[in-house]
Amino acid sequence: MLHLVPDAPPPDKPKTRTSRASKPADMLQCPRCQGREFIETVIGAMLQARTLKGGTRQFVCFGCMLKGERIVVA
Ligand SMILES: [Zn+2]
Repeated sequence: MLHLVPDAPPPDKPKTRTSRASKPADMLQCPRCQGREFIETVIGAMLQARTLKGGTRQFVCFGCMLKGERIVVA
């Protein structure tokens, strides 16, 4: 007679998301104009299958960009 061994119970999942939420996300804000609208720039990426691969990504304040200033926020 073959007895099926029940599957091991799944490891306990954290009941709360406090472990992931312990570090709150920072809302990006421009240090120059306090704006919160940004555009992402990619420098030196390779075009592969119509998608960008690699390169350096930077977030530039859009408000300052309109004034001709390049403020890299992240
Ligand atoms: Zn700005």
